[in-house]
Amino acid sequence: MWGSDSISKRLSSQVASALDIGLCADCTSLETDGETLFMIRPALSGSVTARIKSLTKPAMATVRTTNNDTKDIILCIGYGAKDHISKLKAFAESIGADVAATRKAVDNSLMPYSSQVGLTGKMVASPIYIAVGVSGAVHHTVGMEQSGTVIAINPDKNAPIFDYADFGILSKYENCCN
Ligand SMILES: Cc1cc2nc3c(=O)[nH]c(=O)nc-3n(C[C@H](O)[C@H](O)[C@H](O)COP(=O)(O)OP(=O)(O)OC[C@H]3O[C@@H](n4cnc5c(N)ncnc54)[C@H](O)[C@@H]3O)c2cc1C
Repeated sequence: MWGSDSISKRLSSQVASALDIGLCADCTSLETDGETLFMIRPALSGSVTARIKSLTKPAMATVRTTNNDTKDIILCIGYGAKDHISKLKAFAESIGADVAATRKAVDNSLMPYSSQVGLTGKMVASPIYIAVGVSGAVHHTVGMEQSGTVIAINPDKNAPIFDYADFGILSKYENCCN
């Protein structure tokens, strides 16, 4: 098993090639039935979560690890909350929460990359995760699915984030939480 830093990624592929064994990159979790190692990672542009079995034994994996250096509460700002960022940051501060973001919020320069949670951001596992205006794309949820209690605020009842939520507020943020 390797970490997911750039040195590990580069070295692991060279070692896998030299030893002629399988390597599964960017796993978000690992499972075993006692005999076989199953490597879990998003696939097909994130539309599915694949459970991959290597054809070789041994096999190698690069594994994304959780960032434990966060507060107990994370408030994640999604693109749907783009008009309420200052208010949400102030709310986060008032409850002692760290502020996180989706990639779409980061790509649109609303939030810094250091706050991005997900496949190409950081993995977090805080006891409480509040997602505001987050659709819940698998690229995002792989980074927060180990959180404790998840609270989602979103007006779209079909938003996948509700599959991960313990509590859901089916509303636009400005209509429920101003
Ligand atoms: C290779 C790859 C890697 C990726 N890596 C990451 C990653 O690391 N992290 C990540 O987050 N994404 C990542 N993505 C992008 C990901 O697929 C999604 O596009 C992204 O997570 C969507 O961000 P979002 O939920 O903020 O925006 P959207 O999908 O646009 O969702 C916005 C949500 O806000 C809701 N909304 C609208 N108005 C309001 C309102 N007034 N109040 C409350 N809710 C409202 C909408 O109903 C909607 O559900 C990656 C994509 C790819 C292809």
